[in-house]
Amino acid sequence: MNLHEYQSKEILAKYGVNIQRGFIANNVEEAVDAANKLKEMTGGAEGWVVKAQVHAGGRGKGGGVKFSPNLDKLKENAQSIIGMQLVTPQTSAEGKKVNFVLVAEDVYYPGATETKEFYVSILLDRALGKNTIVYSTEGGMDIEHVAEVTPHLIHKEVIDPALGLQGFQARKIAFKLGLEGNSFKEFTKFIASLYNAYVGIDASLFEINPVLKTSDDKIIAVDAKVTLDGNALFRHKDLEALRDTREEDPTDVEAGEAGLNFVKLDGDVACMVNGAGLAMATMDIIKLSGGNPANFLDVGGTADAERVQKAFGIILQDPNVKAILINIFGGIVRCDRVAQGVVDAYKAMGSLPVPLIVRLQGTNAVEAKELIDHSGLPVHSAITLEEAANKVKEVLGN
Ligand code: GDP
Ligand code: MN
Repeated sequence: MNLHEYQSKEILAKYGVNIQRGFIANNVEEAVDAANKLKEMTGGAEGWVVKAQVHAGGRGKGGGVKFSPNLDKLKENAQSIIGMQLVTPQTSAEGKKVNFVLVAEDVYYPGATETKEFYVSILLDRALGKNTIVYSTEGGMDIEHVAEVTPHLIHKEVIDPALGLQGFQARKIAFKLGLEGNSFKEFTKFIASLYNAYVGIDASLFEINPVLKTSDDKIIAVDAKVTLDGNALFRHKDLEALRDTREEDPTDVEAGEAGLNFVKLDGDVACMVNGAGLAMATMDIIKLSGGNPANFLDVGGTADAERVQKAFGIILQDPNVKAILINIFGGIVRCDRVAQGVVDAYKAMGSLPVPLIVRLQGTNAVEAKELIDHSGLPVHSAITLEEAANKVKEVLGN
């Protein structure tokens, strides 16, 4: 689950990470209020950034982050960003609608030393089974570009999960970023708090780009992208409330609400399976029969009529689907009950626009096949996977 920048920053602040402060605004009046509040907090400083809140990076490049030196400019920028379709290198061509903005304090003020932008991210290295801090002196810009052109400027520090981030590691990172004096100390505090936050909220990704060294040697998170581990959300009810479904794919949201494990793919054979492992195997079988899976869908243990109907509805939103393969293993759940669910769902829908192949194996598989064959519905039934694969091939005309 992805969070907005402002939500990510609020969490970081709770863990003692210095952030660029700001307030969200849904319209121009709220943007002015936010700017005035920040002015008070910063001892009368003028200058704010208006930042589009959407789940996509590269907002600056798309015109979704604008510096505003005075209140008139702030109003103008808020007016133009709120409600816009923001197109960035990370969105589709039609872009994302900006529902609201973050009005943030200007942290790029002049001072005794030069400001510097760094890149810092924390993520799980699955191959190592350890958290990794990725960092670079080349912050603020497109990190993918840095990785391509100057990969030697991107560093990694692997963290042992049992030990956590060690002091020497924090110092090593600060040193490699070329920091010294006060900013060096500030950075080691910053990275320690950041790592605590990452572990504390069960995140799967933190990306802070840029981390800013201000002209008075403070270290500040100017941008923050947080992805939470969906499988750990049950431990963080408060974080679950931060979900903004407006930013997600509507089909994914619908599937999630129905408790279906759904991932859309770009093939033509839809599948509906109980169990993630069997769903993976089913996708292989579809490939072997000459088709391409249109989705991954684990309907879970209780494939009753209501769930199957919901799943049909979700699958059929994809215009590329040419056939549906239902593959159910009846272990705890009896096949004939699932078959009845499929038949009832089909009848409730009236008709399906594409052929349906049903393969049921396990407890009462024979009874299940009979039930489907005698339902009077145009459903192809199978008991073995090979039979099912051949039927898919047949209906696709391969
Ligand atoms: P992104 O484009 O989606 O990654 O959004 P960021 O939050 O990283 O902002 C983009 C850029 O805006 C940053 O790299 C900065 O150069 C600039 N920016 C952000 N905050 C400020 C600020 O307080 N003052 C000024 N002058 N520029 C800022
Ligand atoms: Mn950024």
